[in-house]
Amino acid sequence: MNIHEYQAKALLKSYGAPVSDGRVVLKAEDAKTAAGELDGPLWVVKAQIHAGGRGKGSFKEADAGEKGGVRLAKSVEEAAEEAKKMLGRTLVTHQTGPAGKQVNRIYIEDGSDISRELYLAFLVDRQTSRISIVASTEGGMDIEEVAASTPEKILSFSIDPATGYMPYHGRRVAFALELEGAQVKQCVKLLGQLYKAFVEKDMEMLEINPLIVMENGDLKLLDAKLGFDGNAVYRHPDVAELRDETEEDPKELEASKYDLNYIALDGEIGCMVNGAGLAMATMDIIKLYGAEPANFLDVGGGATKEKVTEAFKIITSDPNVKGILVNIFGGIMRCDVIAEGVVAAVKEVGLQVPLVVRLEGTNVEQGKEIINTSGLNVIAADNLSDGAEKIVKAVKG
Ligand code: GDP
Ligand code: MG
Repeated sequence: MNIHEYQAKALLKSYGAPVSDGRVVLKAEDAKTAAGELDGPLWVVKAQIHAGGRGKGSFKEADAGEKGGVRLAKSVEEAAEEAKKMLGRTLVTHQTGPAGKQVNRIYIEDGSDISRELYLAFLVDRQTSRISIVASTEGGMDIEEVAASTPEKILSFSIDPATGYMPYHGRRVAFALELEGAQVKQCVKLLGQLYKAFVEKDMEMLEINPLIVMENGDLKLLDAKLGFDGNAVYRHPDVAELRDETEEDPKELEASKYDLNYIALDGEIGCMVNGAGLAMATMDIIKLYGAEPANFLDVGGGATKEKVTEAFKIITSDPNVKGILVNIFGGIMRCDVIAEGVVAAVKEVGLQVPLVVRLEGTNVEQGKEIINTSGLNVIAADNLSDGAEKIVKAVKG
């Protein structure tokens, strides 16, 4: 689960981390008052969307102006003007995809004088099963580009969970970031605060890009991106409250309401499968036969007819889906329940694309009977590779 920059900054501020004073604005008419509450003489007006690269992004609508999603202003009036231009418009960045994201919130901040822009992140390193700190002197820009062209400028430090964060971690990072004197002490303290927040709030990712050295030599978080482990959010009602559902994929949001494990992908074959392993095998074999899966979907072991119906509806609502493969190995899940769900869903939403169904396992005969007598135009498959081959053929000809 991701949150907005202004929420991330407020959370990290509560751990003592240095951030600028700022105000969030939801309505254009509130922008002037919000900006007026800040000191100046420089204001930063920032579009709040769950995507990075806002500064270098551009708006789809001409009346949003030529500039990107992070704008500097020299007066309260100018700040309010820029906020008005961005609210309600669609910002496209390299992380949003070509469709872009609508800007519904603006954060107006006290502007900072920047001397250096650095990069800092905490993440869970699956290889070492530890939290890693990633640091680079090349902050402010696209870190993926730095990683591709000058990987030696990105340094990684692993933290042993037995000791947790220790001041020497902070000193090593500080030297890697070429900090000096009092900044080293600030860095050691800041990293301790960020580590504490990361662990206590069950984060998956914490990215500060840029961490700045100001003209006066102090450190400050100028941007903040936090990602939380979705399976742990129930332990943090304060974090759960920050969820902005308008930023999430509507299909994934719908799926989460029915407790379905659904992830939208870019391909053309919609998949309904039971069990995460089988779902992944199904995606692999679709690729093997020359097509791409439109989604990952595990309906789970104890799915009801209602759940299956919802899952089917979510798949068919995706305009990219040109064919559907239902691949069920009935163990705990019964094939007749799946069949009933599929039939009910098709009756409700119709079927505009080819559908291949492969059923095997518990109550398979009843399941096949339900499909066969339903009058639906279903292509039956005997096994996984047969199913994949048939759906790819049906879609690609
Ligand atoms: P992103 O483009 O989505 O990553 O948004 P950021 O918050 O990282 O802002 C992009 C860039 O805008 C930063 O790298 C800075 O160069 C600039 N910027 C942001 N805030 C300030 C500020 O307070 N003062 C100045 N001078 N520049 C800023
Ligand atoms: Mg940034």
